Amino acid sequence: MNIRLPKRYFYRDRGQNGYAYVSHNKLFIKGYVNFENLMYNLTYTLYGYRYCLYCNNELNNKTRTLDHMYPRTWGGISIPNNLIPCCKACNQKKKDMTESQFEVWNSKITPNQKDAFYQACINENAWLMDNGIFVVDDNWVSKYNVTKILKYFSFKGLKESRIKEIEEYFNLHKQYPELLIVSGNNWIFKGKYILEHAKRHKITFVTAVVLSNVIVIKDSP
Ligand SMILES: [Zn+2]
Repeated sequence: MNIRLPKRYFYRDRGQNGYAYVSHNKLFIKGYVNFENLMYNLTYTLYGYRYCLYCNNELNNKTRTLDHMYPRTWGGISIPNNLIPCCKACNQKKKDMTESQFEVWNSKITPNQKDAFYQACINENAWLMDNGIFVVDDNWVSKYNVTKILKYFSFKGLKESRIKEIEEYFNLHKQYPELLIVSGNNWIFKGKYILEHAKRHKITFVTAVVLSNVIVIKDSP
């Protein structure tokens, strides 16, 4: 999938020596850049930071947040396609509903109707996750062959307790609790623990979001 990008863009993470820029609708990243900070910054560049895109109220430093349209709990990742500047109040009301569920929730009138609808949404989302289906746009995810990258990676300093959690989740749901995020040229942004589990258990295909138009420029040796 391609992430949404502005035409012109340059970014340097505070305190880091890496930078990122857009050229020909591709995002190039050179050196170390914190992935989430970069995605947040891209989102504000695309949609502005002045208004809540749900209720149109003006935002200030105290009320400004970024909402995950597909919530993190259900696999929603931090990319501009899934982020929306909004106010704290809207974000708190939306909780773990998707953007489209929240729209329907907003149209419900009585608190009882709202509560009932909210509960139904959460049950549905949880059911999907229990059955190994991430609550995100189908077009974002693919089965990614990890064998091509695993030979380059050895992960150090991983917590065994977290690996055990991943293991338990996987045994129960035949799926990982989160999505692997990979650049167009097979650089891993998120999912060290997933990869470690896949390596130990010789798993070939992992559900991933491949950001085809994001390219990590590696330093030449
Ligand atoms: Zn709002």
